[in-house]
Amino acid sequence: MTFSTRGKYRGSPGTLTVGGGSLVFTRVDGLISKKERVVVTIPTHAIVSVNVEGLVGKKLVVLVDGSKVPGIPRHEFQVRNPHDWKAAILREMGSGEPAESKSRDARKEVYVKEITREIVKVPCSYCGALNELTVKKCMSCGASVGRG
Ligand SMILES: [Zn+2]
Repeated sequence: MTFSTRGKYRGSPGTLTVGGGSLVFTRVDGLISKKERVVVTIPTHAIVSVNVEGLVGKKLVVLVDGSKVPGIPRHEFQVRNPHDWKAAILREMGSGEPAESKSRDARKEVYVKEITREIVKVPCSYCGALNELTVKKCMSCGASVGRG
């Protein structure tokens, strides 16, 4: 799932997109023959934190682990809805690594697995109604059943 809106990176307008394991800022250059240019690509696995800073004209601040990707560790984006962006990036970070998503799926699989338990029923020796093995009295006629 990708999330994309227009925004600004270092003062220049463009489009910020998150999805497919990376956060990308692209800019369209040229008036007649438009060329889309990738300004910055940040792999989501390299993102250390996402913050919204500033009271007026809120900025989306993405901090990157310098040991994972070369370049500047701090990226500031100006977007209309920085809080939505923060959520979208965090979501992408959670589903980025293939190994991680695999284990997540496995966990989900276990979680939805139905627990089926066999309930043994025994017929009442008086009326023949089926009662659970745990009951002391027949559910139908009230006679004592089982070993009691
Ligand atoms: Zn009975």
